[in-house]
Amino acid sequence: METLQHWINGRPTAGTGERRGDVYNPATGEVQKDVTYASVEDVDSAVATAKTAAASWNHATLATRTRVLFAFRELANKHRDDLARMLTVEHGKVFSDAQGEVARGLEVVEFACGLAHLLKGEFSENVSTDVDSYSLRQPIGVVAGITPFNFPAMVPMWMYPIALACGNTFVLKPSERDPSVTNFCAELLQKAGLPDGCFNVVHGDKVAVDRLLEHPDVGALSFVGSTPIAKYIYETGTRNGKRVQALGGAKNHMVVLPDADMDLAADAAVGAGFGSAGERCMAISVLITVGNAADKLLPKIRERIAGMKVGNGLDPESQMGPLITQQHRDRVAGYVTKGVEEGADLLVDGRTLKVPGHEKGFFLGPCLLDNVRAGMTCYQDEIFGPVLGNVRVATYSDAIALIHAHRYANGTAIFTNDGGAARKFQHEIQVGMVGINVPIPVPMAYYSFGGWKQSLFGDLHIYGPDGIRFYTRNKVVINRWPDPRFRGVDLGFPQNK
Ligand code: NAD
Repeated sequence: METLQHWINGRPTAGTGERRGDVYNPATGEVQKDVTYASVEDVDSAVATAKTAAASWNHATLATRTRVLFAFRELANKHRDDLARMLTVEHGKVFSDAQGEVARGLEVVEFACGLAHLLKGEFSENVSTDVDSYSLRQPIGVVAGITPFNFPAMVPMWMYPIALACGNTFVLKPSERDPSVTNFCAELLQKAGLPDGCFNVVHGDKVAVDRLLEHPDVGALSFVGSTPIAKYIYETGTRNGKRVQALGGAKNHMVVLPDADMDLAADAAVGAGFGSAGERCMAISVLITVGNAADKLLPKIRERIAGMKVGNGLDPESQMGPLITQQHRDRVAGYVTKGVEEGADLLVDGRTLKVPGHEKGFFLGPCLLDNVRAGMTCYQDEIFGPVLGNVRVATYSDAIALIHAHRYANGTAIFTNDGGAARKFQHEIQVGMVGINVPIPVPMAYYSFGGWKQSLFGDLHIYGPDGIRFYTRNKVVINRWPDPRFRGVDLGFPQNK
């Protein structure tokens, strides 16, 4: 069986770690390869390599960095179907969804190709007599990324293209569950002309993460994953003096007002609730139907679910694939069972679904719960699976109060034809990313992505303008060229005259 190795200093590296993890094909339930888990020494070796490379990458001209990223974009685009196939085979998402993931990741690479403009500083002439002042954006040095299983290509691309564009070198610890695509991207970066050591990959688990968190030569750390780990990463990393951004979990609500276009809302709820089997941090997991909206909306959602095909993501007919592991599949099914025990009505039960020819796959059919209430476990927790719950409320204000009471605040959406209601929602809702008749409002690459409350620990969002800020340090220079008029010692505090 193939063993996936780390990628250090421009080549696959076995490392010294003796532990390995299985990599499954979630559609068949079979182990297809295993992956080496990094030891502390392996992480040290990757960071040392990145540190050496940083000394020269930092001095590479803006044009050189742009050309490397541009070439990487071209190569990745050429291989986008190979990347998508790797995603489908290890993550389980359907091939068209995997193609979409690659395309959205590449948009960040395209943004990073504008680095020459993005890294411009500011300049003020004559801040004092014959004195000019300007600011520079300089790289941090070695930065690290730790990423989740659900977007194994795109989420790392939220990080390394911008970090590299800014002149940093990178050590990535991807999810151990679907790690192959990362090594393929490392090869493509090398083919694009990125010098060895600028992009390194260590596979593994907590051992690798903890070493990155404490390593004195790692200056900044980006994390995307679940909230408990995000909080741990933020607290430990900042305690060790690092700059940290840690994006966590979510529970995204979609408010449907009675005047909404119910066909549009039903399409959106099914797409955003069950796409990628609900394993998206921007998935809609709760509907909040106001007034009589539920009676019009839920039958349309049931109709659409009845027409959905669940199967192997490589089958072009499949619309939804399996979950990432058997354990996660059972956990998600457990939330449905608990929801029923706590009093919700199960309108569609996907727990018994079997996919012919894939009996060992980690499949769970779409589940729809009605009459969910705020105190229920299936409402409070992030389920991260194909489960859509509906909460019925009387008024718009009840809907807002529910969203504000929840600890997560990643994304949300409102469906209505009332412009005034939509504008009020956009203005007052305490959530980081908002859709108006758009169920998954993932910001374009030239904005920044991030939630509020327990969905983000840190000050800066990821990619876009905040990405440039996160991966650079600001330096201010005050400059005066020698002029005989200014001779003489002055012990006073400098004043601007
Ligand atoms: P996870 O938190 O289990 O793992 C994320 C990363 O942390 C992985 O690389 C993993 O190896 C590492 N890790 C896991 N346990 C650790 C520990 N105890 N100590 C140190 N490192 C550890 O998340 P996941 O299951 O891979 O991904 C799903 C989660 O990610 C969901 O909660 C989802 O909402 C979240 N997510 C959030 C965003 C966002 O932008 N906010 C985007 C994608 C996914």
